[in-house]
Amino acid sequence: MNLQEKLAILADAAKYDASCASSGANRRDSRNSKGVGSAGGAGICHSYAPDGRCISLLKVLLTNRCLYDCHYCINRRSSNVRRAAFTPAEVVKLTLDFYKRNYIEGLFLSSGIIRSADHTMEQLVAVARSLREEHDFRGYIHLKTIPEASPEIIEEAARHADRISINLELPKQESLDRLAPEKNLARTKEAMGRIRLRLDDAADRRRGGDRKLRHATGQSTQVIVGADASTDADFLARSEELYGSYRLRRVYYSAFSPIPEPSAILPVKPAPLLREHRLYQSDWLMRFYGFDRREILTPEQPNLDLHLDPKLAWALRNRHRFPLDLRTASREDLLRVPGLGPRNVDRLLSIRRFAPIRLADLARLRVSLPKVRPFLITADHRPPATELDSDRLLARFAPKPEQLELFC
Ligand code: SF4
Repeated sequence: MNLQEKLAILADAAKYDASCASSGANRRDSRNSKGVGSAGGAGICHSYAPDGRCISLLKVLLTNRCLYDCHYCINRRSSNVRRAAFTPAEVVKLTLDFYKRNYIEGLFLSSGIIRSADHTMEQLVAVARSLREEHDFRGYIHLKTIPEASPEIIEEAARHADRISINLELPKQESLDRLAPEKNLARTKEAMGRIRLRLDDAADRRRGGDRKLRHATGQSTQVIVGADASTDADFLARSEELYGSYRLRRVYYSAFSPIPEPSAILPVKPAPLLREHRLYQSDWLMRFYGFDRREILTPEQPNLDLHLDPKLAWALRNRHRFPLDLRTASREDLLRVPGLGPRNVDRLLSIRRFAPIRLADLARLRVSLPKVRPFLITADHRPPATELDSDRLLARFAPKPEQLELFC
């Protein structure tokens, strides 16, 4: 099989992995005319294809052969797909060729598990090592790691990569037992814990002035939404733990979509993309808006409302906390106003020190007036007392009814 055929198979096999954004990576720069390429410090993966997500990284598998039999995966042992495998040298060559032609800004490399976790990880590390040490490659590298691999190999992966990740896939062990019987949540968390210690150690050394240190700056993971009965509350609880205890940079939520040759125990329909979107919004609320997951979802309501964004849904459940007076409200409270994001809240806090804020000022900041009006008091606007109590407020934000299509 020639390189092109392998690339067609192994790039296609990699497209199901969503965890490949690169925001927060440290900058490697070759403008001093040493080495090859340079990686932007914040987010080089801006382009997403509808099916395969990131398109500015060379996103491939080293091989789509795999010893494991995860039901949701097209590369599982029992799947009847065409198999291929690159050698590490082939991936290095492809990466450099594409990089020099400006097709890509880096490499996202993952692999099915062949022979053993250690053997597979060694192959992945060999690619990164060769790129960094033999070719002085300064583009972005994201390596997928295998929790069962020995810590020393994972540590070496972290030394060459900008980002490393381990896919959690499902939030609970009982779901893994059913859909990915070889995977173990405790082992994955153990590996994440070890990686976290290494990342913290590297961050300390950087803060201490070690500018030459090469080390990944973050770890991330992916979960599949809608392949099992896990609720949104299960996903957010797991994410909260991963951000808090393991300092993950990102949790990627990937809506399950049926694969060719599906396993009989998987849903036949894809999960709604809107569910993935609502989970991202909730994740954002927990990380940047000061929300606790228990404010977003409750035991009585463990799934997100697909029709309302989760912040608006929270505000509508907590109308007694509004309207807020823009002259006096705290930053924490303003972050809870539907339609206000952290950047605009900070702008408003600095503007209000010098002048009263009017609706026109909000419009100039591109704040959605229909969204904020019921929740805010400005210098020229006070929502009628009855507005927040009215059932019509919920109706105003509910999606418009759609004409159903008839199928014949
Ligand atoms: S370990 Fe599971 S998810 Fe990963 S390639 Fe193998 S079968 Fe697919």
